Amino acid sequence: MRTWQWFSLGIVAGLLAAAGFGFAQPAVEPAEEAAVVSFAGQPVRPDDGKLGIIEFGAHPDDCEIRAGGVGAMWSDLGHHVKFVSTTNGDIGHWGMAGGPLAKRRNAEVQAAAKILGVTTEVLDIHDGELMPTLENRKIVTRLIRQWNADIVIAHRPNDYHPDHRYTGVLMQDSAYMVGVPFLCPDTPPLKKNPVFLYSADRFQTPVPFRADIVVSIDGVIERKLDALAEIESQFIEGGAMGSADRVPKTAAEKKAAVERLRESFRSRFADTADRYRDKLIELYGEAQGRQVRCAEAFEICEYGRQPSPEEIRRLFPFFPERN
Ligand SMILES: [Zn+2]
Repeated sequence: MRTWQWFSLGIVAGLLAAAGFGFAQPAVEPAEEAAVVSFAGQPVRPDDGKLGIIEFGAHPDDCEIRAGGVGAMWSDLGHHVKFVSTTNGDIGHWGMAGGPLAKRRNAEVQAAAKILGVTTEVLDIHDGELMPTLENRKIVTRLIRQWNADIVIAHRPNDYHPDHRYTGVLMQDSAYMVGVPFLCPDTPPLKKNPVFLYSADRFQTPVPFRADIVVSIDGVIERKLDALAEIESQFIEGGAMGSADRVPKTAAEKKAAVERLRESFRSRFADTADRYRDKLIELYGEAQGRQVRCAEAFEICEYGRQPSPEEIRRLFPFFPERN
């Protein structure tokens, strides 16, 4: 939102207040533990001077793949990172479905979250059935507010999977509404509009992904691979398109499958670094930028706050000081 838009919002709110339309906002109580629920009236994460980052992925594995590295890096610096899966993943397997699969996939991402040092929530919406409804827009808006987010990340709305697309749409639909006091008045609006980011993808139509921010994840790559190895239903057993042949039958087969998983993801993140090498050099300098092996990339959405280069460095405190 542009500054003037926030300013006009303030004027409107002020006039309404002067006219006797009281703002009955709920008291903000310090949470003993980070808020992890998605309905109204839940505590807001108190502002402790650290960054709040919330990422929405469509399935229980998407956030971990796209931002598991930078998530761990923020978390190591004491910032607050939350991953939200907008569906419960309950059709994402070739041989099981429904409640048992949803529970299994929740357990997998909770185990991954422990390794990465992030908070994870899986919304109880059926896999393959996410729609950009008003109800879901309110859920996403409240979650962003409750996390007191400085940064919000999601898929781009150009993607092969409908759940990915609509997760991107839901983030876009919240990008202005998080500051509007009379939408979801049970959850206090954000005072400062976050920066909204898209995670990287390879889709070309109507426009390809643009890497505005590329982060080296070399310092945490083994941890990220450890976290991804927890998501066995997808990366060992093959998810919806897998088969019984993929399930390891012996300890040796399991070890080999985990090794394949690690190498496949390692080369995927190395490909991200190679693809956006110019941006890495711009952000890290020539020598360091050339040495980065694995990376994660993000595009700035034009609907939220537009960060200056200095603010990008404050929000991503991983780049070397500029001379
Ligand atoms: Zn997905």
